[in-house]
Amino acid sequence: MGLPQSGGGIINNTQPTRDDNLALGNPSGASVGDDSNYLIMKSAYALSFSRRRSIANWVSWHLSAAWKGAATRNNDFRPDPQLPTDWFAAKTGDYTNSGFDRGHLCPSDDRDGSSADNSATFLLTNIVPEAPRHNREVWKELEEYCRKLMAASNELYIVAGTLGAGGTGASGEASKLANGKITVPASLWKVIVVLPVGSSDLQRINTNTRVIAVNIPNRQTAADKPWNYYILSVDDLERRTGYDFLSNLSQDLQQTLEGRVDGSVN
Ligand code: MN
Ligand code: MN
Repeated sequence: MGLPQSGGGIINNTQPTRDDNLALGNPSGASVGDDSNYLIMKSAYALSFSRRRSIANWVSWHLSAAWKGAATRNNDFRPDPQLPTDWFAAKTGDYTNSGFDRGHLCPSDDRDGSSADNSATFLLTNIVPEAPRHNREVWKELEEYCRKLMAASNELYIVAGTLGAGGTGASGEASKLANGKITVPASLWKVIVVLPVGSSDLQRINTNTRVIAVNIPNRQTAADKPWNYYILSVDDLERRTGYDFLSNLSQDLQQTLEGRVDGSVN
C-alpha cells in the first residue's frame, strides 16, 4: 500500500482515492421520506432536494485527484431520473432567457474522471438559477481555488447549497422561474474542509484543519468583490441555514472549527 514517511515511520497511503461524498455527515438529516429534504445518492455526489423549491438544499462531494481525468464537458443538462415521477422536474428550457445561468452546485470540472461522473453534474437537480456574473466570476473563482488546493496535494470535502429566495440576474430581480415552480435562491453558500492527501480522513481532522465557509448573494453585483469577501464562520452559516455541518466530527472539534473565520487570502 503506502510508503513509510521519512523520519516518523508512519505508514500513510498518499495515493489520492475517491472517498465518501458524505463522510463529514448529512447536514440536514436528508432522507427519502422527506419531500422538502429528499436524499438523492449518486456515485458522483450526494444531494438534498426540496420539492417545494424544485432545487437542491445542498450537494456534498469529495474532491481529490482521483476524481479528475480527461473526460470532456458533457453539457447534457437534463431532468434527474432519481426524482419521484410525480414531482415537478426542471427542464433545461426552464432557464432559457430567464436572465439566470444553469449554475452547478457540484462543478463539472470537479468530476471529469469519467464521462458518467461528469454527466451526473448536468442533472438539473445539481443546477440552480444563478446570476451570470456570480456563476462566471466570484463562484467560479472559488471553484478554481478549490481545485488549486487539490492540485497542491490536498483532498477536500465540499458542501454547497442554497438559501432563501430572490436573486438579481441579467434581466433584473426574480424569485421564481418556470411559472413559479423553480425558486431562485437568494444566496449560494459553501463549506470546504481541506486535508493533505491521505487515508482515514475523518480521524485526521484536528483543530489545525482548514475550514472555509462562504455565503455569496445571488446577485450580479456580488462579483464586484472577491470570493473571500464573503467568508463567514461555519457557526454563522449553521444559524442561517439551520443545518449541522461537520456533524460526524466530535462536538469539541466542531465547536473549535466552526467558530473560526478562515483568514487565509486567495
Ligand atoms: Mn458554475
Ligand atoms: Mn456542526
